[in-house]
Amino acid sequence: MPPRRWHVTRTVLTAANGTTCAGLLLALVTRTRIRRGRDGVLIAEGWRLRMPPASCFTIGSVIITRRSAEWLLAEERAVLFAHESRHAGQYAVLGPLFWPAYWVACGWSYLATGSYGVHNWFERHAGLEDGGYPPELPLRPWLRRSWLGRLWR
Ligand SMILES: [Zn+2]
Repeated sequence: MPPRRWHVTRTVLTAANGTTCAGLLLALVTRTRIRRGRDGVLIAEGWRLRMPPASCFTIGSVIITRRSAEWLLAEERAVLFAHESRHAGQYAVLGPLFWPAYWVACGWSYLATGSYGVHNWFERHAGLEDGGYPPELPLRPWLRRSWLGRLWR
């Protein structure tokens, strides 16, 4: 699909499946400021809660950031913006199922490596390094020794 058409499709799907609405609602409740982003993605700036421990995270087609929209839209952050936008694409496909699926993936990754992201399919698909994750981590010893660990490699 050409990029432009995918952006429109993504925006329509995340609006229809309710995930963008959830993102906007969270932005509203936490009094973060909603700004225009790029490629149909909105940015809610000035997130103040301690969790999650990341500079930004995405809900539907809304990227929520501790920083400003200008910060995220700057050329130097193009890869981070692309990473978060790929999460918006995952919401477009999965809708609210994204949440349980993402948490299972986090749990698996944490169990396997001690990191929530490195073996998390959603983060790998969105681009580990673009999202600020290390490219790879060794599996935990117990897993490396198990048949599953041998299968994994
Ligand atoms: Zn990510």
